[in-house]
Amino acid sequence: MLELEKVEAARRRRVRIGSLTIGAGRPVVIAGPCAVEPGYVEQARALARTGVDALRACVYKPRTRPESFQGMGMEALPLLAEARRHTGLPLISEVLCPEEAEALADHVDGYQVGARNMQNFRLLEALGELHRPVILKRGFGATIDEWIGASEYLRRRGNDEVVLCERGIRTFEPRTRNTLDLSAVVVVRDLTDLPVIVDPSHAAGNRRWVPALGRAALAVGADGLLVEAHPEPTTAWSDAQQAIDLETLTGLVQSARRSQAAPS
Ligand code: PEP
Ligand code: MN
Repeated sequence: MLELEKVEAARRRRVRIGSLTIGAGRPVVIAGPCAVEPGYVEQARALARTGVDALRACVYKPRTRPESFQGMGMEALPLLAEARRHTGLPLISEVLCPEEAEALADHVDGYQVGARNMQNFRLLEALGELHRPVILKRGFGATIDEWIGASEYLRRRGNDEVVLCERGIRTFEPRTRNTLDLSAVVVVRDLTDLPVIVDPSHAAGNRRWVPALGRAALAVGADGLLVEAHPEPTTAWSDAQQAIDLETLTGLVQSARRSQAAPS
């Protein structure tokens, strides 16, 4: 085990992603389809009306199988620009390698490093050098210490704009896509000064269970939620089974507004 000291910092670090601040005590909601797809601009406008704080805007997707939709790539840039213009919301996009991060630098407000790339150290170092905010997901086979260790690769390069995201780990239980480790939220907030958000979508793998897990995350003091949502969930180009509809998302946003992140 790494030797991790309990953080003495009086306050949780506040991470800014465009106009959004994470870690200031008010839990945030970041939502959107799993991947940017051709109808994204209209989807973004509808999502914005639910009151979300930022939009998922993933144009590169790490898929288990190569024949699955891999994301629209750079073809999606005009859609990102339009979504930004219409909604004014910050955009967050997953990147799989340093070249993708550089290509998107002027088009998104923050990056996501997915579970499969949590220990892609060259990617983390490159994002450390770019000094742009990063949401670092927990690998589904990673311990808390390995996850915090991965965040240090960004911070060692001078980038402290890091938000940790618990998204479920792989256990013996196959009923859910992953097992949401809510303990990690409590423990990591104790061990680091970084804000911690929760993705209930990739944990549940089924839209029916997403709202309850999201509310549970808020109850343990998470600094926010990252949720897959779509105006017509069953038509989503990827992860359709776990996307929630806009009415459900509105309810989650209201729950977040009534919540307070746990004190530092
Ligand atoms: C995603 O957010 O769509 C995603 C691929 O998540 P994860 O890396 O947590 O599997
Ligand atoms: Mn997804």
